[in-house]
Parts: sequence; structure tokens; C-alpha cells
Amino acid sequence: MRIADLTFEPLIDEETIAKRINLLSEELNADYEGKTPIFIGVLTGSFLFVADLIKQITIPCEVTFTKVASYFGSTNTSHKIREDIDLSFDISGRHIVIIEDIVDTGNTINYLLAKLKQYNPASISVCSLLLKPGKLELSIEELHYVGFEIENEFVVGYGLDYKELGRNLKAIYRLVSSGDPTM
Ligand code: 5GP
Ligand code: MG
Ligand code: MG
Repeated sequence: MRIADLTFEPLIDEETIAKRINLLSEELNADYEGKTPIFIGVLTGSFLFVADLIKQITIPCEVTFTKVASYFGSTNTSHKIREDIDLSFDISGRHIVIIEDIVDTGNTINYLLAKLKQYNPASISVCSLLLKPGKLELSIEELHYVGFEIENEFVVGYGLDYKELGRNLKAIYRLVSSGDPTM
């Protein structure tokens, strides 16, 4: 499949994603019973994951979004993080679950965790659909829920973009031979 100037091939199909999300939601329903958690989706990449996950949450909960971005239209991580965080909602004393599309180096989630901790939540954990263990630069203690561990490869689909394209794809695709030595 061609997206802009690059070629991608299937990695995780729709049914596999749905089954994994069912299991993650069962874990969350059990772990947060009686806690009325606030699920905070990190825009834009997590929007489909949040929607599908939250439909399977059966305990009382709140859902909101925030925005942080570290990639600027390429397949490479930059360590620049745009400060675009909306924290107008009150999280003090609350149980927070951050929902991410993917944890790559871990810098974005680390930054967001540090910001949120300043508001004294009762607890904070991270639920990421994807994780690239081989690219993690920091250990993220709060990363309690991971959908799939993947190789050091660039992926698109199911909310994740390449040059803002491909977010609408129902499955997840990986870049075919990037030719980019830094990936
Ligand atoms: P980190 O700060 O962990 O290196 O990067 C996290 C962010 O970079 C993710 O939330 C996502 O927006 C973007 N990112 C990292 N890896 C990929 C990837 O393989 N594909 C896409 N589309 N975005 C990625
Ligand atoms: Mg993200
Ligand atoms: Mg992106």
C-alpha cells in the first residue's frame, strides 16, 4: 500500500486489534473497579484506540483528551515536544489512565507524566496500544498496559499517521524497507 511517497505492508489486522482491546478493557475494568478513573487520550494518534477501548469499559469513568506531539511529518523521532497540553480539567486526587497510540523512545509519555504528576493525581498509569521496546530510552514505570510490542519500524493506520495520512485505516501497517538508516 502506498501512502504519500512510501510503501507499507500489513502488520496487525482489524480482528487482532479488536481482540487485544477486549482483553485490555477487561484488565482495566478489574483494576479500576470503584475508582471512577479519568481516561486521558493523547491526540491525535490515539483517537480510534480510545473510542474502541472505552466502549468496552463497563465501570463509571470520565474520558477526555490532551495533545502532545513529538513527530513533525516524518518517520523519525525528534526530541522536540510541542507544548500543546490542555490541562484545564482537574485531576487532583483522581485515578488517571493515559491512553497513547504508541510509545517509541518514551520521551513524549515521560514529559506528559511529569506534567500530570504536578497536579497530584491519586494514581497514574499508561495504556499504550503499541510499544517499541527496542527504541525505549527511558524506563516508564507507569506503562502498565500494552497492546502489542513491535519491532523498530515505522507504522501507520488505526489512528497513526504518515504525513497526516493513513489515520483512517482499520488495520496497522509497517513501512517496507525505509531506506532511512536512522529508523
Ligand atoms: P516517543 O516520544 O515515545 O519517541 O514518540 C511517541 C510519539 O511519536 C507517538 O505518540 C507517535 O505520535 C509518534 N510515533 C512514534 N513511533 C511512531 C510510528 O511508528 N508511527 C507513527 N505514525 N508515529 C509514531
Ligand atoms: Mg501519540
Ligand atoms: Mg504523527
